[in-house]
Amino acid sequence: MSNKLKIYMYYLKYKHRKFNSREELKKYQNKKIKKQIRFIKKYSKFYKKIKSNELKDFPIINKKIMMENFNDLNTIGINKEEALDFAINSEKTREFTNKLNGITVGLSSGTSDTRGIFLVSDNEKDKWAGYILAKYLGNDLYKGCKIAFFMRADSNLYESLNSRQVQFKFFDIFKPMEENIRCLEEFKPDILVGQPSVLIEIAKNKRDVDPNKIISIAEVLEKKDEEYIKKAFKKDIIYQIYQCTEGCLATTCQYGILHLNEDIVYVEKEYLDKDRFIPVITDFTRKSQPIIRYRLNDILVEGHEKCKCGSPFTIIKEIEGREDDIFVFYGKEGKNDVRVYPDFIRRCILFAGEINNYRCVQITKDEVKIYMDENDKLQEKIYDEFKKLSEQLNFRLPKIEFEKYFYDRKKKLKRVESLVKE
Ligand SMILES: [Zn+2]
Repeated sequence: MSNKLKIYMYYLKYKHRKFNSREELKKYQNKKIKKQIRFIKKYSKFYKKIKSNELKDFPIINKKIMMENFNDLNTIGINKEEALDFAINSEKTREFTNKLNGITVGLSSGTSDTRGIFLVSDNEKDKWAGYILAKYLGNDLYKGCKIAFFMRADSNLYESLNSRQVQFKFFDIFKPMEENIRCLEEFKPDILVGQPSVLIEIAKNKRDVDPNKIISIAEVLEKKDEEYIKKAFKKDIIYQIYQCTEGCLATTCQYGILHLNEDIVYVEKEYLDKDRFIPVITDFTRKSQPIIRYRLNDILVEGHEKCKCGSPFTIIKEIEGREDDIFVFYGKEGKNDVRVYPDFIRRCILFAGEINNYRCVQITKDEVKIYMDENDKLQEKIYDEFKKLSEQLNFRLPKIEFEKYFYDRKKKLKRVESLVKE
């Protein structure tokens, strides 16, 4: 079967699948989990040795464990060293169309110390594409649609999707932005896809770009940036694809609410407080490199209300950031260290006043650096906010330094980032 036809089949499958209640969803998930367990116990050496057939008896893993057991874990006999060489070579030559034994191999762009390798088969890619098209294109697939895609690496996936109805154009974010925007104005996309930092740059410099739909990918979409992009493009909703190499975790519904994609991933929630949790995911669609009880290091904030769209999928009010980006300060008077969620840090800056571009980086437990262009008065206010927070949460106020705003476009933009490793 051709690649395109397969994608179309998946598109139809996902487009027409609806769940009316949590119970219905649970039942479906249980069936999928059982099927996935049968598969991995047959083909993955790592899982073969587990006696139980219940998901709860399977180990919770993370990137480190995944990489240490890479050879046993994957079901297609790919060797870690070989895959790593292959992926590094692709990055070096910026040639991403080659495959290793028919499998796409990539390096995950994660920020943690452990380098991740991911494996995706053509079928898994087709599923993913079908899923995204079903979520975001709806019937536009038949009407015809032009999609502009800003990303780091070219991918053979998107070009293979080109058809009479759907036209993809890839824009390399390593190229000068003026050139990209000129091309974009010529292309006149119906859908614009890119990471928030890129969308902001387009919003600032565009003259004649007016897509129907804007989709944010790859970075956390901060509320403030979201508002800015909405205003610049005169849109009510900025759609999001919350996706990591480990899976496509959440997408935005027609009411602008982000929902977990619980029809393709089962999410266990490791709660940090009433609403905040770390997701532990089991993906039903991944076979070559199974994702079973995989603990991400993202902090998500759950919403408990029911969405107007009628979907029983969990509402995500916010993707707060990486668990690695929790700030850690010394406790007052020799007390234990105090952990502060990225959202509290973000608020210290946003409460201070009108600040558009900033990055707040924790350098050591005693030192925070803030990159922004605003004046001394705002700096003073930020300092006061931090002081207030330190009193509320009982930590020793760190040294706070200000520097001119900058960020490296080759990296993902993180407004709040911690370099402190516990
Ligand atoms: Zn909804």
